Amino acid sequence: KGKLLEVKELVTDFTTDRGTFHVVDRISFDVEYGETVGLVGESGSGKSITSLSILGLIKPPGRIAGGSVLFEGDELTGKSPKEMGRIRGREMSMIFQEPMTSLNPVLTVGEQIAETVRLHQGLSSKEAMQRAVEMLKKVGIPMAETRVRQYPHQLSGGMRQRVMIAIALSCSPKLLIADEPTTALDVTIQAQILELMKSLNQNDGTGILLVTHDLGVVAEMCKKVIVMYAGQIVEQGPAYDIFRNPLHPYTEALLKSIPRIGGAREKLYSIPGNVPSPHSMPKGCRFHARCPYAFERCSKEEPALIDEGNGRRVRCLKYDPAASVRDAGLNGGE
Ligand code: SF4
Ligand code: MG
Repeated sequence: KGKLLEVKELVTDFTTDRGTFHVVDRISFDVEYGETVGLVGESGSGKSITSLSILGLIKPPGRIAGGSVLFEGDELTGKSPKEMGRIRGREMSMIFQEPMTSLNPVLTVGEQIAETVRLHQGLSSKEAMQRAVEMLKKVGIPMAETRVRQYPHQLSGGMRQRVMIAIALSCSPKLLIADEPTTALDVTIQAQILELMKSLNQNDGTGILLVTHDLGVVAEMCKKVIVMYAGQIVEQGPAYDIFRNPLHPYTEALLKSIPRIGGAREKLYSIPGNVPSPHSMPKGCRFHARCPYAFERCSKEEPALIDEGNGRRVRCLKYDPAASVRDAGLNGGE
């Protein structure tokens, strides 16, 4: 069946009065049908810009400056906004913590869900309305039969968010990009939404790119994990292997800072320091100022993404096969 999504060497630039910066810097990964891939990292790591780039939603002063995004083999970079709009409506769905699109104030929530369902599944209006009620129940909205006839302003913010999720899921997309989909919701609703995403995954073969800073969610949902730091992939591979044996010091630090269940949700990470901003990228390894393992070369040489086999890759000089050669002075330096 081939790959659902292939991102290759993607570069997204932003231009400010200080210059042009790679906010996403040559990242590559795949999402297969029926697979959930976790994209993790602190805020400012480039995860959201990555998802917006795939969806064709980067606006000036940002632009895709290089690489490729293949959706079922079809190149998406360079498509017109109109074509991208059509693809987003039919085959790709998105859920954002802060909804990018909003609900139509003059249509009931039922009408809005029913419209999506009818378009995608060819149901009659009555069947589509029935489906809308089911979807509202699935996203945890109480008294769905009543709510389905209400207008957006009659719902709380949290309920509107869940209606947006219901719409995104009701069209059975081939690819779902979910960026912090449940962060703002309470734990019970969060679990319900994740279950719903799982069933979509297993029953409809939907591929999911799950963008989150919550490694607990990733552990529960994902087969593969991509860890981003300062616009680059620093580690990627099977979730099981990464959780059991993180190779990159940043991944290790993220795993150490997973909050306990029921613990405070605000201060997720205790890694000292901050993600560097695109216009003040440090020389060498971008993580070196925060890395407990940093050694001399780390502030001078930029590490490459090294293939460790079994689908694992890591960007750290500790794993650089040339290291021992260079350290022995055989390589003559750069
Ligand atoms: Fe740490 Fe050096 Fe590896 Fe960067 S290259 S993660 S500073 S050990
Ligand atoms: Mg974000």
